[in-house]
Amino acid sequence: MEEWNQSANLALDIGGTLIKMVYFSSTDNCSADSQENRSLEESNDISDDLEICLIGKGRLHFVKFETTNINDCLDFISSNQLSTHGDLPDEKQHSAGDRNLIKATGGGAFKFADLFMERLGLNLDKVDEMDCLVAGANFLLKAINQEAFTYMNGHKKYLQIDHNDMYPYLLVNIGSGVSMIKVEGDEKFERVSGTSVGGGTFWGLGKLLTNCKSSSFDELLKLSQEGNNRVIDMLVGDIYGGLDYSKIGLSSTTIASSFGKAISENKELEDYRPEDVARSLLRMISNNIGQISYLNALRFGLKRIFFGGFFIRGHEFTMDTISVAVDFWSKGEAKAMFLRHEGFLGALGAYTSYQKKNSGELISHQLIEQLPNGVQCTGDDQCRGLPADPKS
Ligand code: ADP
Repeated sequence: MEEWNQSANLALDIGGTLIKMVYFSSTDNCSADSQENRSLEESNDISDDLEICLIGKGRLHFVKFETTNINDCLDFISSNQLSTHGDLPDEKQHSAGDRNLIKATGGGAFKFADLFMERLGLNLDKVDEMDCLVAGANFLLKAINQEAFTYMNGHKKYLQIDHNDMYPYLLVNIGSGVSMIKVEGDEKFERVSGTSVGGGTFWGLGKLLTNCKSSSFDELLKLSQEGNNRVIDMLVGDIYGGLDYSKIGLSSTTIASSFGKAISENKELEDYRPEDVARSLLRMISNNIGQISYLNALRFGLKRIFFGGFFIRGHEFTMDTISVAVDFWSKGEAKAMFLRHEGFLGALGAYTSYQKKNSGELISHQLIEQLPNGVQCTGDDQCRGLPADPKS
């Protein structure tokens, strides 16, 4: 954990599963010329190393805690004195009376308000969850170069979003549950749909079905990487004797029924490898979310769908499945796009609510961001140092 001890402020998104925290540190300064090397975690693109550098001011840091371990979050705030030295990157200082007020969103801002007061003497200043998600997404799309990317066939392609042509879009936030929000402008949005089959379902069912062998979410993701969903899923080819059903555009490898093979085989859960179970489950849930998202985009004539939420975790198989679902059902018309700071939309939205100004204009001119592979992006120019797609 990074050492620093003054000049900070923070915002929280306290969700059903995770607490997301964004905090500012002015002691941990950075400049446009500073070069730092940060490497991707080895297993895949999952990275917790997400910081935003405000040139000449300090850094925004991103941290998460499990909601069940809320005491870790309280200890972190207290031991790093996050709330007691409030200064803001735009030099608008907290007044003495504001120092005990922390912007917080998510259900936990209500549920745990008393706990924050009792343990730390902090007042949670509640900000609406949907407002924060949208503000966070708009902020990232406007302020961070190449925040969004597509993922298809193993390739990430970073995109430069035209600020003048950003709206409308569908924002799909995949947390414990899923929210689908039609966004038409700053503070102009409507939650048009959602599904309870989301990240919590994957983790919850995954824990049960793999017999609790995976104690953490990331372990469950790793398991799924080593699995083969064809062992349990019923494919079109299983029904058609290995053939495609080409008349309606279904290849033999298309999943006809998730987990469908388990009915016909005389097997118990223990007879299946946890890896294969995890893989089928991840594919089923990601596919379903991709399809429902596209149907909602279709409802409102939206071509762009941005996916956020901690479920995605930069996980290639998840992103690939969602992208393929959107591409398949839209016949290539709609695009699934992902966000590098996917899990922190709500917390960033809460953070930007400290400022009265439009969040996109807020600090974009002084932003410099460190991509995990060492490429720097400033708020005004293109990323320097590597081609847009590090894998191409
Ligand atoms: P919420 O606000 O509902 O807590 P999040 O956006 O934080 O939603 O996403 C929670 C989901 O993220 C979990 O249900 C799980 O699928 C996934 N997840 C990713 N990383 C983790 C992790 N380290 N611990 C728990 N869940 C994780």
